[in-house]
Amino acid sequence: MKRLALHWQILFALVLATLTGIVFRSLFHGVAEEGTLVARALSFSQFVGDLFMQALKMIIVPLIVTSVISGIASLQGVKGFGRLGAKTFGFYAMSSLLAVVTGLVLVNLIEPGLVDGQPNEVIRKVFDAKQAAASDADLEKVASANMKEPKDFLDTIKMMVPENIFAAATNNGQMLGVIVFSLLFAIGITRLPAEEMRTLKEFFQAGNDVMITITKWIMAISPIGVYALMFPVIFQNGPDVFAEMAKYFATVLLALGFHMFVTMPLILTFVAKVNPWAHLRAMREALLLGFSTASSSGTLPVTMRCVQDHAGVSKRTSSFTLPLGATVNMDGTALYECVAVVFVAQVLNYQLGFGEQFMIVTAALLTSIGVAGIPSASLVAILLILKNSGIPDAQAATAVVALLSVDRILDMVRTAVNIFGDSCAAVVIAKSEGEKVLEDVPA
Ligand code: ASP
Repeated sequence: MKRLALHWQILFALVLATLTGIVFRSLFHGVAEEGTLVARALSFSQFVGDLFMQALKMIIVPLIVTSVISGIASLQGVKGFGRLGAKTFGFYAMSSLLAVVTGLVLVNLIEPGLVDGQPNEVIRKVFDAKQAAASDADLEKVASANMKEPKDFLDTIKMMVPENIFAAATNNGQMLGVIVFSLLFAIGITRLPAEEMRTLKEFFQAGNDVMITITKWIMAISPIGVYALMFPVIFQNGPDVFAEMAKYFATVLLALGFHMFVTMPLILTFVAKVNPWAHLRAMREALLLGFSTASSSGTLPVTMRCVQDHAGVSKRTSSFTLPLGATVNMDGTALYECVAVVFVAQVLNYQLGFGEQFMIVTAALLTSIGVAGIPSASLVAILLILKNSGIPDAQAATAVVALLSVDRILDMVRTAVNIFGDSCAAVVIAKSEGEKVLEDVPA
């Protein structure tokens, strides 16, 4: 018998958690007295949920390190790679920045985490559920973390250059430093003699493949994780949370839609001087596949075919820009990370100053480089940025769980945006290299 696709399994787990949560909630009026069966069921559920979250956290460092290093180091070995590399990175940085700014502006305008200017209490309760179940010591830690002064701009810059890379890798708040170090390391690799360079590149590429495999294993048990994490939440809070998330959904979809249908078409029209709708049509297959798989890496072969065969970009340009783009350029993901983090901060009534918003933009840009092109990969990055913003561990973890449980649709859309961004980069760069692009496609 064919196994049910993972996203259906997750959805099923979610529905089941909601239903059992509601049933238990009405049977026990939402109170689990110590020693009762329901209390034991809740604590077992929390235990399994914690294991799942810890597994996700376990892979943060190696996943980011191997993916950044293998992605950047693959620049070497292409003729004229200096010029092409500079253009590609310039475009990736600019388009991701535009995406993040779109997300930041909309999330600040729409304020999906607030109701009449106040934090949305229903969602807040869900985020706080873990905190309510935590021990006194945990609560103290949370309280002191809550009072921490917001980090300013200079602190953020300092975090990018950690004095001890191993300490930075073990300390959750220092991941920016790990990413910057990985970037430097990757550039260093491209300066090595050919033989040594190949060895290291293959090593990190293989390491990255292993990390993606482990991520897939973790994702394979995600239905159990989602159930275990959501059941106590629904038991304690009721199911209202999904209706409350509607404004958040709308904000993310509006921002992604703006980037894909306004920003990118403007760039295609005025920078590459090609018809954006012709390009959209050329990319149809890849966009649909990306939408249904929620994996830009998995879609890469089709993306390459569309860009080469339908949009008419040369093999030289596309085989350089697209694999790199699938690894490091994720406009939709960067935008989503930014909206999600600000949304969680709004719900938790955590004030974000200029320094922190800048940190979020920088972190969204940098972590989107490190996020793997597989389903729900950006949730790990969101967890990381939340912690970097001074949001206590327990609340950040529960918030990410809440986001994970409603992630699939948003993941499908942002993956399509990621793929579209890569394909636009290929077209713009091909045009700048004097190639004839999208000539045969009728306007
Ligand atoms: N699923 C996305 C992709 O493959 C990554 C993410 O944002 O989770 O592009």
